[in-house]
Amino acid sequence: MRAIRRFTVRTVLPGELAALGELVQNLRWSWHPETMDLFAEVDPVVWERVGHDPVALLGAVEADRLRELAGDRRFLRRLADAADDLHEYMTAPRWYQTLSGVPRAIAYFSPEYGIAAALPQYSGGLGILAGDHLKAASDLGVPILAVGLLYRHGYFTQSLSPEGWQLEHYPSLDPGGLPLTLLKEADGTPARVRIELPEQRVMHAQIWVARVGRVPLLLLDSDVADNDTAARDVTDRLYGGGTDHRLLQELLLGVGGVRAIRAYCRIAGHEEPEVFHTNEGHAGFLGLERIRELTEARLSFDEALEAVRAGTVFTTHTPVPAGIDRFPADMIARQFGGGNAWPTVPVDRILALGAEPGAAEGDKAVFNMAVMGMRLAQRVNGVSELHGEVSREMFQGLWPGFDVAEVPIGSITNGVHAPTWVGREIMELAGRELPSLVERAQGWEGVQKISDADIWEIRRKLRARLVEAARVRLRKSWRDRGASQAELGWIDDVLDPDVLTIGFARRVPSYKRLTLMLSDPDRLRRILLHPERPVQIVIAGKAHPADEGGKKLIQQIVGFADAEDVRHRIVFLPDYDMALGQLLVQGCDVWMNNPLRPLEACGTSGMKAALNGGLNLSIRDGWWDEWYDGTNGWAIPTADGVADPERRDELEAAGLYDLIEHEVADRFYDRAGDGPPRRWMEMVKHTLTSLGPKVLAGRMLRDYVTELYAPAARSAGALAADGYAAARHFAAWKLRVSGAWPGVRVEHVETGGVGDTPQLGATLDLRATIALGELEASDVRVQAAYGRVGAHDELEQPEYTDLSVETVCDDGTAYFTGAVPLSRTGSFGYTVRVVPSHPLMASPAELGLIAVPEEPAGMTNGTLR
Ligand SMILES: *Cc1c(COP(=O)(O)O)cnc(C)c1O
Repeated sequence: MRAIRRFTVRTVLPGELAALGELVQNLRWSWHPETMDLFAEVDPVVWERVGHDPVALLGAVEADRLRELAGDRRFLRRLADAADDLHEYMTAPRWYQTLSGVPRAIAYFSPEYGIAAALPQYSGGLGILAGDHLKAASDLGVPILAVGLLYRHGYFTQSLSPEGWQLEHYPSLDPGGLPLTLLKEADGTPARVRIELPEQRVMHAQIWVARVGRVPLLLLDSDVADNDTAARDVTDRLYGGGTDHRLLQELLLGVGGVRAIRAYCRIAGHEEPEVFHTNEGHAGFLGLERIRELTEARLSFDEALEAVRAGTVFTTHTPVPAGIDRFPADMIARQFGGGNAWPTVPVDRILALGAEPGAAEGDKAVFNMAVMGMRLAQRVNGVSELHGEVSREMFQGLWPGFDVAEVPIGSITNGVHAPTWVGREIMELAGRELPSLVERAQGWEGVQKISDADIWEIRRKLRARLVEAARVRLRKSWRDRGASQAELGWIDDVLDPDVLTIGFARRVPSYKRLTLMLSDPDRLRRILLHPERPVQIVIAGKAHPADEGGKKLIQQIVGFADAEDVRHRIVFLPDYDMALGQLLVQGCDVWMNNPLRPLEACGTSGMKAALNGGLNLSIRDGWWDEWYDGTNGWAIPTADGVADPERRDELEAAGLYDLIEHEVADRFYDRAGDGPPRRWMEMVKHTLTSLGPKVLAGRMLRDYVTELYAPAARSAGALAADGYAAARHFAAWKLRVSGAWPGVRVEHVETGGVGDTPQLGATLDLRATIALGELEASDVRVQAAYGRVGAHDELEQPEYTDLSVETVCDDGTAYFTGAVPLSRTGSFGYTVRVVPSHPLMASPAELGLIAVPEEPAGMTNGTLR
């Protein structure tokens, strides 16, 4: 018989052990090995059995054992120490507390969070990044208040059929069995948010609070009795269901998320956020909810829009068009219009926010969450420099008339949370040898002083741990596929703790090319089975449940790895999750990544490997494009000019094989006697010193705080002051400037100062005649753009200098003057442009308004000598 409902009965801890409950409830344990040691001591056997999940541990441990511990003075002392340590961690001032002019609180929205394997609320990189963001924020004292959804079945766990086909299982999670507490009103009833749906339906949700160190994470859960069945199922699983389902999830996340924050701040006395950061477009409706709040407080839509934009940060995560979140516009119209409309927020304004720029008439039917995200956020970023560049191109249409380089999308390269991903032995070595690194995140040069032998010994230990764990997992996988124990003796000898180990683990969308390594199966086989320099490969990855193509790729890999001649050297381990991820990034010598450039926005698993002393072997995409320096790993040559995809794969695979055979294996096995491979260790140390300080999530958080959160809080504060006076003024100014812009023209540009033969070092004097129409000179900025010109007279990476106003005539004609330095030889050109100017603008492109001369550049093809 199956139970119709399950729940977890929590143990009542003896009073002496109350602190144990607190330690379990704060997820800081997941990156604090000393706390995990303490949990292990509660009952080492049970601790292993429950897979290091402390809530499960407390549920499973015998009452007798708890009574025994309650009388164990030594255990109680350790418990008290751990509780003190947590208290100190939670309250002591940290980096953020040394800053001024920073927001009192920041709201962070994400559809998924990867915090610990025991909280399976993530599918891949986006969620893991969100988890690392919160942990690093906690470590640095950044006052983030995070919001997400609690999926009752999380993301699926993966196993294989006998034929190697991916099977999905959705575990049933009981919030009572997770380190969560329900948010309650003062009277003890659960706090609720409600969202009106079309046809008089209502969706309710309760709010679970997870503690990620100092960061509260609010998780909305629609599985409550007041909801109809459909509404109850909204938070059933991550990325499951159709478009309707996704819309309801995103409504709950965005609109419900803001309401949950308001409830939490009211109940817990928490500071209200000044900045709202959305991790990808899925939470974009949060901006609409905040506009609703402000319009109900008597601002107009445009005024509210300005106030909201100023305090919103939007991070885009994908350059893959299929990865962009879109809805049919009529679905949005149904949700936010008709009988369900918000009285102060016109539905056509909402639809306009999500309309794709330049869409043909027929395509107006699409509502694009990324585009809305960019219109609702004054500050937008990609997640690596290359991804920033690609995003500027991808979204250029939102800022017509501006060069790609001026599209206001910046970038902050992702990072990873070292205490989560770095092997304990390495953390301890660093703690012993490089104390300043642990305390102040600097002093990476010190790595050079650590002996090769010390690092090599730890690397072997981590590799051996991976080999052991891989055998256990592989045996389980074969059992699940129907093999009998007796057939599986060979698994005892699978993988070798002394063989060069390459890891490849990631989600399986086609651009990540799981099967590139199978391009030439015979060559791969020779590499694996090389008599002196063998290589072993450990592979893991989940395909999206709806992605049949991805499942086929997994089946191909599994088919290859099943073969008797190679199965001891190549394994596919099912169910890639954080626990397996930790084993892999710690145990592999080389981390391989071969995406189709430039579709990997950043990639973070290679950063985790690098921090563990692994070497990257990767296509120069995402973060690796930025930080590969020629000697800190290997760059697989990319054939991104080659149009035929099969030919391109072949070329890149050949490059990959060459590198493995001639560079990677060569270096790894180049030993003098029994000692560590000297040239390999050189590269490991160089990897640690060159990449260590950059790839940390702490570096990423500092960048977010100084480049985005603090400026956003300043803008939002300026707009909100004096009853939103500046928001009112700014919105009115934008309307006036947009209305009058057709009257703005660059009429004429005169030059002087350089004579007939311009020479390097001279300056070119400019005088521009500008028609201002209805505008004042102070409404605009007149700029000279200058620099090298290309074959079609286009300015290449121009520089800008402001011209100053000389006179303004009554008819609106104005003269602006300035000087352009002739700072480089060769073809040189310039032009003049007019853009709006207001102190509250974050970029000249913000309004998408620009005026340039009808006859563009002057002095084109003039050559400097
Ligand atoms: C780090 C990590 C990811 C993201 O890694 P990518 O390099 O972006 O593919 C995905 N899943 C798990 C379990 C991870 O640990």
